[in-house]
Amino acid sequence: MTTNLIKYNELVAIEGGIHVQGGMNFEIRGSYSIVLMSTEKNAPYVDEILDEGIIKYEGEDKRGIPPELKKFVDQPMANKSGTLTQNGLFFQAAKNFKESIIEKPAIIKAYRKLRRGIWVDMGFYNLIDGFIEHDGNRKVFKFLLEPLFDEIEPKADLVHNRSIPGEVMVEVYERDGGRCTRPDCTATDNLHFDHKIPYSKGGSSKTAENIQLLCARHNLRKNNKLIY
Ligand SMILES: [Zn+2]
Repeated sequence: MTTNLIKYNELVAIEGGIHVQGGMNFEIRGSYSIVLMSTEKNAPYVDEILDEGIIKYEGEDKRGIPPELKKFVDQPMANKSGTLTQNGLFFQAAKNFKESIIEKPAIIKAYRKLRRGIWVDMGFYNLIDGFIEHDGNRKVFKFLLEPLFDEIEPKADLVHNRSIPGEVMVEVYERDGGRCTRPDCTATDNLHFDHKIPYSKGGSSKTAENIQLLCARHNLRKNNKLIY
């Protein structure tokens, strides 16, 4: 199941004990890469959710330069030594897929930071494109991550779950006090963002009114029944 809330130590456990720190981590798990996103107001990067739950993910700034200059220097493809940066590694993988040099796109796991210590496991994505844009000050890398369909979750629901904007997640989390909203339940772990009215019945992912926190137990029990 995707879009579940986890604590940082759970993230580390899921990722086999790796303390993921940087935004972009190419093939850090061998079979897949990991990217981190943030919904915090002072988030340093511009990541967007497009239609169909596609993430438009921004590349990394040049390292080793003063903070006040970071947003005025082109994001680099390569390091001084000539090795590829994380931008370069992701860009190359996207290019190889687009040019059919590799058959399948690189797989990316995405985590979204809601606030200090609280993360959303966004699940797996395909890296389908990488390109360079001008943001008004300098060149930045952009990567398109398409939700990876699995057999467990119906595609429409998966796209729906992945389309909840970060600010809506924050609003729901704060409104519900970080716990399951069932009156007889106070669970604060295994929480999921649940749509009160499902996509199939016309419910929206874009407003906090249609989304609530449910623990795994109550989320499972709800199934397709409308209880709220
Ligand atoms: Zn519950």
